[in-house]
Amino acid sequence: MSFNDLRLIKPLILALEKKGYSQPTPIQQQSIPHILEGKDLFGCAQTGTGKTAAFALPVLQLLSQKKLNNPSNRSIKALILAPTRELALQISQSISDYGRNLGISHTTIFGGVGQKAQTMALQRGVDILVATPGRLLDLMNQGFVKLNNVEHFILDEADRMLDMGFINDLRKVIAKLPAKKQTLFFSATVAPDIMKLANTLLVNPVSVSVTPVSSTAELIHQSVYFVKKENKRSLLNHLLLDNTIHNALVFTRTKHGADKVVKELIKTGIKAEAIHGNKSQSARERALKGFKNSQIRVLVATDIASRGIDIDKLSHVINFEIPEQAETYVHRIGRTGRAGASGKALSFCAREEMNYLKDIQKLTKKNIEVVNAHPFS
Ligand code: AMP
Repeated sequence: MSFNDLRLIKPLILALEKKGYSQPTPIQQQSIPHILEGKDLFGCAQTGTGKTAAFALPVLQLLSQKKLNNPSNRSIKALILAPTRELALQISQSISDYGRNLGISHTTIFGGVGQKAQTMALQRGVDILVATPGRLLDLMNQGFVKLNNVEHFILDEADRMLDMGFINDLRKVIAKLPAKKQTLFFSATVAPDIMKLANTLLVNPVSVSVTPVSSTAELIHQSVYFVKKENKRSLLNHLLLDNTIHNALVFTRTKHGADKVVKELIKTGIKAEAIHGNKSQSARERALKGFKNSQIRVLVATDIASRGIDIDKLSHVINFEIPEQAETYVHRIGRTGRAGASGKALSFCAREEMNYLKDIQKLTKKNIEVVNAHPFS
């Protein structure tokens, strides 16, 4: 199947050619036709499946077919909510890329930075607004955002939004949306509270599901190193002597832990940066940019900060600590092995983490290969 078969308009097809996408991913194949027909949609998909394009392309197309060409009278026609600033920025970048030939305006608002640039962009008028819930509500309360003309409402990573405690903010935002609109709801899990929220929002939705969260990509080679907690940093340094680790996203449980790992790596001459909630937005963006353009070899992240980080050609994911939630493991290692590429996921497991590892193997129904030959076993 090609993008042409999905009846996408020429300006979008040209933008996709420029991105080098040759064919739609399964979520795109299944979602785009329904969204173009104006239907509500429940999409069960995690990052890495191409879900951003699955909603961005048809929404851009629907908006372009309406006459939006009066820049002096622009109002928000599509609202996209994302749980983190990183994800909001990535969605925004995708909209810039896919919408490059359309002349549809958009802006992104998120917390942790001054609001002036954001309110100025809003005052100039935008067709699409990408936002994190807290800052959106704040700017709504200050009168900078009006949602009464929204025709397309997209909730991305709804499960993570609930995990992060955004439910009340979400409810307040939803209350201000017009009753008649198209709603697209994406979540990586289908927990009962997610279904409850979805049911309050969606009208006769089409349901689309790809790669359930319990499945780890076949192309990702997974292994585990049993190691004492106090030896983990030495093991990481040792493994990074291997030059086939082109770049690695390392996950730690805490912000403090992330900083400690980075310090140790820098001491041994490895270019590393941490990305977590205590870092300023500009520091996070700088670190991410350095990692993407290979100036930084190792990015150390906590789960929340890393959500939505999208790096093409990530060779390794390293679980410095085993996550307590097995689903988190699946999310983490899904950062590598994207779009058909192969990748490696290494996990460091201390004695006290054995139960977490068992949960992961139960969820993924896979035995993870144990590497015994290392100096810290
Ligand atoms: P997402 O699930 O939206 O985070 O997308 C994951 C990655 O897949 C991003 O790097 C996209 O640029 C990329 N991508 C999305 N759609 C396609 C496609 N049809 N072909 C190749 N890559 C894609």
